[in-house]
Amino acid sequence: MAQSVAGPEIERLIQLLARLPGLGPRSARRAALHLIKKRETLLNPLSDAMRVANERIVVCSSCGNVDTSDPCTICRDHRRDASILVVVEDVSDLWALERSGAINALYHVLGGVLSPLDGVRPEHLNLDRLVERASRPGVVEVILALSATVDGQTTAHYVTDLLSHLPVKVTKLAHGVPVGGELDYLDEGTLSAAIRQRTAF
Ligand code: ZN
Repeated sequence: MAQSVAGPEIERLIQLLARLPGLGPRSARRAALHLIKKRETLLNPLSDAMRVANERIVVCSSCGNVDTSDPCTICRDHRRDASILVVVEDVSDLWALERSGAINALYHVLGGVLSPLDGVRPEHLNLDRLVERASRPGVVEVILALSATVDGQTTAHYVTDLLSHLPVKVTKLAHGVPVGGELDYLDEGTLSAAIRQRTAF
């Protein structure tokens, strides 16, 4: 086993940083050293920001987003088109859609996708609340913005059945050629989906 180069407090910082997505043990060590060197301008403000965020984080009881208020900033925003609900697997997908600026609607975070292999069943997902929200007067469309994986598409079918008795249009994301993508680099599944879902020019 490698010998520690620092005291247990610093080793603990490194171990915790190494648990972050995208950071291995080496980069965690580098990040820790960087934080220590920039104590005044980075480590102190970062630890303050983390403490404040940790104290205030709540899960929105309406959509399942994480924020520092309940209902969340998105649910409270009256400029959004409340007739459309965009269903996503995780908060990271909500953030990605918001970054894209593609749609100015409300969201619903499922908290996962159905996965028989991982033991994720309907009762583990935020589905009752979705049916309740989709039943509200004024909601006309539910967009299933779920991954193009087997589990994502299984979940999309399940949710479509669940909402079939409601007077809402259920739509899903198009699958196709990525913006800036070259055809000969695409996998066969994406290419055939793009052909099947072709649109008029
Ligand atoms: Zn919300």
